[in-house]
Amino acid sequence: MSLDIFRLDGKVALITGGNRGIGLATAKLFGEAGAKCLLSARSETDESRALCEGENFAFVPGDITDPATPGKLVDATMEKFGRLDVLVNNAGVADGGDFHNFDDERLDRIMSTNLIAPFRVARACIRPMLDQGAGSIVNIGSISGYVANKPQLQVAYNSSKAAIHQMTAVMAFEYASRGIRVNALAPGYIRTRMAIDGMEDPAMSKVWQENTPMGRFGEPEEMASCALFLASDAASYVTGATLVADGGYITH
Ligand code: NDP
Repeated sequence: MSLDIFRLDGKVALITGGNRGIGLATAKLFGEAGAKCLLSARSETDESRALCEGENFAFVPGDITDPATPGKLVDATMEKFGRLDVLVNNAGVADGGDFHNFDDERLDRIMSTNLIAPFRVARACIRPMLDQGAGSIVNIGSISGYVANKPQLQVAYNSSKAAIHQMTAVMAFEYASRGIRVNALAPGYIRTRMAIDGMEDPAMSKVWQENTPMGRFGEPEEMASCALFLASDAASYVTGATLVADGGYITH
């Protein structure tokens, strides 16, 4: 046994939502671990553009809610890097408000981005993984898949993330005997664009921190290390799991 089981040398990863936040931090760490990475989001950022100047990274723009995008991303990964070993199914959006006022347009945006698109992306990635007889999928869920957040109201978001955890378990069951592991990562409050408005709102931030036993928010890099564990051979006997990384948020 050596620490090399945490490395991804020779492996190729597709990371959705790779232009910032948890996805970008994961891409950087995967690169350090020896992987080649294809990143996607609707548009590049300065940071993802700089990263993709390196030969082991590429960026392909796309709206993940377009049914054609998942197949295009898999084709681009195969064309650029010749294989596909790891999917980090990470792109997502948050939205909230009173349940009884949450209109169809907002409901559709949440579900199409956070549930339907990750389903399609995983489905597209399974095919080359089956051909290779191996693969690892890391779906990004959330503590919101377990608890009601407070103080903000967000039934649709929480429902979409609970569904991701269950999709993970049932996919893992289906593909366990064919060399493909499927796990989820459930972050707590992580300092990214998605959560930054709440973190900068003193009242909201106070409630979030008081409900986090560690008393602080998480950093994207702390999610990247969890994703690396799940993606790598270090987790060779782990499938169907949801790894909660939340500073203790859901312990109470
Ligand atoms: P960010 O808002 O920084 O990242 C979201 C990513 O998703 C961006 O890369 C964004 O790119 C991409 N994305 C959103 N919509 C689309 C779309 N229609 N098509 C393609 N890409 C899209 O937030 P995080 O890094 O925090 O979010 C990453 C994941 O982590 C999400 O699934 C989120 O739900 C989850 N999470 C985050 C938590 C937190 O506290 N931050 C807590 C729990 C879970 P672009 O908009 O340019 O397309």
